Amino acid sequence: MPIASPETQLRAALLGLAVADALGVPVEFQSRAARRLDPVVHMREYGTHNQPAGTWSDDASLTFCLVQALADGFTLAKVAEYSRRWYYEQLWTPRGSVFDIGITTREALSRLQADGDLILAGGTDEYSNGNGALMRILPLAFYQVDAPLKERFRLIHDVSAITHGHIRSAVACLLYLEMARYLRAGQSPAAAYAEMCRQAPAQLYELKIPAHEADKFERILSGRLPDISATAVDSGGYVMHTLEAALWCLLRYETYAETVLAAVNLGDDTDTTGAVTGGLAGLCYGEDAIPPEWLAVLARRADIEALAAAATQGAGIS
Ligand code: ADP
Ligand code: MG
Repeated sequence: MPIASPETQLRAALLGLAVADALGVPVEFQSRAARRLDPVVHMREYGTHNQPAGTWSDDASLTFCLVQALADGFTLAKVAEYSRRWYYEQLWTPRGSVFDIGITTREALSRLQADGDLILAGGTDEYSNGNGALMRILPLAFYQVDAPLKERFRLIHDVSAITHGHIRSAVACLLYLEMARYLRAGQSPAAAYAEMCRQAPAQLYELKIPAHEADKFERILSGRLPDISATAVDSGGYVMHTLEAALWCLLRYETYAETVLAAVNLGDDTDTTGAVTGGLAGLCYGEDAIPPEWLAVLARRADIEALAAAATQGAGIS
């Protein structure tokens, strides 16, 4: 199959991410055991956050803020500013309100609000490794993609560090974006994952990632992910769990719908696990594979499509 245009791919990624986010919103914080009894199989309404069907959350909002910065001529300051404006001024909210935000993200955005000159506001301590940067990083799979690895990683690190400054978050974002890169080139999930695992050791060495941090990625980069649906641990908001869950779902299933429903039905941080998985699944299977009844209720679909079109006219996008 011919490779789709950047606009078509970006649109599929954004819609795939937002739809899966919205599938997870009504059941966020509910356990995997609850999902086994009552799996999500369609776009539900209300539930945890009392939102109508098709309402996406912070994951998609902050992703769209990054896309908006790409559309407007990318600077880090714009990403920080638009992210701050999401929380304080409801920029890129689905229906005019912010109803979900992680602790690390909220603390960083309040530092941005207090100090207008600050950009890299993210905490750097061990427990700043929530999935709040991973969930919004996907648009960088379309920006300066042919730059040398060290430059790409610097950019990924800094975009992450607006809210999440720990090196682990940046490495998780890099690996996720590598998957996106290979999927964009038309590789299957299995081939993309194998390529990511093959390339990563040399990449992490070149980037001088300390061994004790690189070691944390050993299981994710093993080439053989364990069946995480069989473990007792729900899929919480730790960046490593979310990345592993997204890869596992993508590798295990063969359609957009099965892949993102599996992610949501892992329980707990359902919207973010869904969003992180859904972005890759959108890239992999394309917009046409997203069930039309899910797209039909998606909040601000036309705005998302217009954003994808505008961003792919931006400098540095390919
Ligand atoms: P966000 O990243 O979206 O801002 P939070 O700061 O609320 O979200 O973090 C999400 C989850 O990630 C929390 O449950 C937190 O305990 C978990 N987490 C963060 N860092 C670590 C870590 N180093 N090990 C395990 N869990 C972590
Ligand atoms: Mg969310």
